[in-house]
Amino acid sequence: MTATADVVTRDDGSELIALLTPTGRDGPVAMRVLAGAGLGAVACPDMAALCALVGDGDGVGAVLVAEEALGPRSSGMLLQVLGAQAPWSDVPIVVLTGEDELSRAIPVPLEELASHANVTLLERPVRVATIVTVMRSALRARRRQYDVRAHLVERKLLLERERSARHQAEEANHAKSEFLAMMSHELRTPLNAIGGYAQLMEMGLRGPITPEQREDLERIERSQRHLLGLINDVLNFAKLEAGRVQFFIVRVPMHEVLLGVEALVLPQLRAKGLRYSDAGGCEGIAVHADEEKARQVLINLLSNAIKFTAAGGEVRVACTVDDEWVHTTVSDSGVGIPPDRLDSIFEPFVQVDRGLTSRQEGTGLGLAISRDLARHMGGYLTAKSTAGVGSSFTLTLPRG
Ligand code: ADP
Repeated sequence: MTATADVVTRDDGSELIALLTPTGRDGPVAMRVLAGAGLGAVACPDMAALCALVGDGDGVGAVLVAEEALGPRSSGMLLQVLGAQAPWSDVPIVVLTGEDELSRAIPVPLEELASHANVTLLERPVRVATIVTVMRSALRARRRQYDVRAHLVERKLLLERERSARHQAEEANHAKSEFLAMMSHELRTPLNAIGGYAQLMEMGLRGPITPEQREDLERIERSQRHLLGLINDVLNFAKLEAGRVQFFIVRVPMHEVLLGVEALVLPQLRAKGLRYSDAGGCEGIAVHADEEKARQVLINLLSNAIKFTAAGGEVRVACTVDDEWVHTTVSDSGVGIPPDRLDSIFEPFVQVDRGLTSRQEGTGLGLAISRDLARHMGGYLTAKSTAGVGSSFTLTLPRG
C-alpha cells in the first residue's frame, strides 16, 4: 500500500472505499457516515495518493471523490490509472457534484471521466441514506468483479496445470516409445541368430542329427518365429507412436489388395477348416491409402478372424462403397467379444481374457497398430460383435 492514508477499517481491496475530498467538511463527515454504516474507507490526501491506491495490486472496492478534486490534470491521472487496470476490473467511482446548488453543465474533465469510467454522480447535499446505499451497491458490483478475477485466476491455473500434465505425459510417452524401439531392435538381433543357427543344425551342416534333435530344433524355430513376431509388433507400434512411420498415400485398387491378402491367409483358413467367402463389392473401386499399410490392416483383421473362430466356422469379407468412403468388413462366426470390451480391444496390449484354457497367442497390439494405421491414412477402424455369435471389423478408407 503506497498511499499515505488514514485507514479506518479494511478487510481487503474489494471492501475498501478510497475517499478524496480536498476541501470543506465533506471528508470527515463522509468518513464518519461510512464508518457508521460499517463500510471501510481510507481518506487520500491528494489525487496521486488515490491513484496509487487504485493502481495497487489489491486495488480498491470503490472511489468516492468530490468534484472539486477533478481538475483536468488530476482526472487525467485517474483515467490513466483506470485505463491500466486488468480487463476484469472496472472500479466504481462515485462523484459528489455541485456545491449546495443545482450546478451548471458538467465540467469537461468530469464529463471525460464519466464517459470512460464506471461513474455515478451524486448531487450535494446528499442524504446519509443515499450515500450509504450508493456506496454499498458500488462495493457489491466490485465484489462481483473480484469474483470474476478469482474465476479467471483459477481457470488460468487449471489450464497451466493441464498443459504441464499433458507435456509430461507426452514426454513420458515419447521416452516409452524410444525405449520400446530400442529394446525391440536389441532383441531382434540375438533372436535372428538363434533362428539362423537352429536352421544350420537342422540342415546337418554341423554334423548329423537324430530325429529327436530335429523335433527339438523345430520347436526352437517355432518359438523363435513366434517371439520375433511379437517383437516386430512392439517395434511397429513404437515406431508408429513415435511418428517415425512414413505414409505414401496413393490411389490403390481395393479389389487387388484384397486378392493379395486372401492368397496370403488361405493356408491358415484351410489348416483350420474354415469356410471363406468374398462378397465382393470392391471391383473397380479405389481408395486413397498406403497400399502396404492397408494390406497390413486387412491381414491383421483376417488373422484375428481365423484365430478366434473355431473349426467349421466361417470368415467373410465384403466391401460397401459410398460417395466418400470405402468400407471393407471382415466378419467371422467366432467367439465374439463381450460388449464391455469392444472399445478397449483397440487399446495397446489389451486382450480379452477367455480363461487359461483358450488362451490365444498374440501381443494385443495388432488392433492398436491397425487403428493407428487407418487414422494415418485418413480413415478409421470400427468393430461390432455379439459374444458367442461372431465379430465384424470394418476398415474405412477415403474413396480414391
Ligand atoms: P492379438 O490378436 O495379438 O491379441 P489384437 O490387438 O489384434 O491383438 O486383438 C486384441 C484382442 O481383441 C484379442 O486378443 C482378442 O481378445 C480380441 N479380438 C480381436 N479380433 C477378434 C475377433 N475377430 N474375434 C474375437 N475377438 C477378437
